[in-house]
Amino acid sequence: MRFLLTGGAGYIGSHTCVCLLNAGHDVVVLDNFVNSCPEAIRRVEQITGRKVALYEGDCCDESIVNHVLDREQIDAAVHFAGLKAVGESVSIPLNYYENNLGATITLCKALAKHHVKRIVFSSSATVYGDSKIVPMREDLPLGECTNPYGWTKWMSERILRDTAYADKDWSVVLLRYFNPVGAHESGLIGEDPTGIPNNLMPFICQTAAGVRPMLNIFGNDYDTPDGTCIRDYIHVMDLASGHLKALEYACEHKGTEIFNLGTGEGCSVRQMVEAFERANHLTLPHQYAPRRPGDIAQSFADPAKAQAVLGWQATHTIEDMCRDAWNWQSHNPHGYRTENPAE
Ligand code: NAD
Ligand code: UDP
Repeated sequence: MRFLLTGGAGYIGSHTCVCLLNAGHDVVVLDNFVNSCPEAIRRVEQITGRKVALYEGDCCDESIVNHVLDREQIDAAVHFAGLKAVGESVSIPLNYYENNLGATITLCKALAKHHVKRIVFSSSATVYGDSKIVPMREDLPLGECTNPYGWTKWMSERILRDTAYADKDWSVVLLRYFNPVGAHESGLIGEDPTGIPNNLMPFICQTAAGVRPMLNIFGNDYDTPDGTCIRDYIHVMDLASGHLKALEYACEHKGTEIFNLGTGEGCSVRQMVEAFERANHLTLPHQYAPRRPGDIAQSFADPAKAQAVLGWQATHTIEDMCRDAWNWQSHNPHGYRTENPAE
């Protein structure tokens, strides 16, 4: 089959490209490179030995999305395209609503026009808000998001559900990711944040590389066994294989389905630091710092539905995630940017 991946040059998109190509599918990527670069796709092609049809353009631009769908025979879309920096979304909310909701609406209209009514959407565990109930199950009532980024996921879910409700030909799969980390085992593709990373794993990697002097662990007075926050970290290749399963499902079913993509295992910040040191035989300078505003004490998935319905399960361990993240970081200290064009 032939799948359109909006935002396919980004962190999760590029790993999903590898997974889909390796499974024998064709991949078409539409990305405006606002947070990625074409080099990621070149490396996907290097890993898989397959070509990707790459279009540079904005998913909010109706004419470009229609142009891609006119030219390519698409069976279903995976909609990764979006801005994702939580802090930035608080500073420039209108850009986030415009980009993330605009892209979702424009894409759906163009897909409907081309009779491709199948979409897999990148949602997030953030839609559960500060749920006191863990593990989180898909049927938990949605919570209050703590930032505009989270609300764009919440609202995009709503938009997609309403679309499938109004037109029974649609197949919508909402994937609620927990905390994606790690990289492809080749070390050729990985997470390439711009500026000072917000997320734990890229910050750990840059600290290990000496780019940052010290990891601050935000809070050690939470109501958790070691006092630090608990999250459900999932290897990005496991996440990628979840998209393959979700696409297969979307091609066979109509209506809306929601799946958590997580391991079901909670890991504290302290446990993550220890696992990183163990997996990579190094010492990570770290200290405790005050809580980060907006953080919740614990978040981890109940992944039973994805296992039962999609036949999907995460297989990588925390040590695998730490090893592969460091393999990528240590071989690409400046991400994709310092690649010698002569190579
Ligand atoms: P990313 O920033 O690496 O990838 C997003 C891609 O979308 C980038 O390549 C960017 O250039 C592109 N893009 C953004 N706006 C666009 C537009 N209007 N038109 C075309 N391309 C556009 O992020 P990621 O980590 O790969 O995340 C992919 C998706 O998953 C995002 O929607 C994100 O919100 C969601 N998500 C990510 C996480 C996470 O922790 N990484 C967790 C939950 C959900
Ligand atoms: N965290 C930390 N130091 C950092 C970055 C993150 O202690 O430099 C903690 C953060 O407080 C949270 C956990 O690591 O408890 C995961 O944070 P991340 O931003 O990666 O994911 P999210 O909070 O969005 O689930």
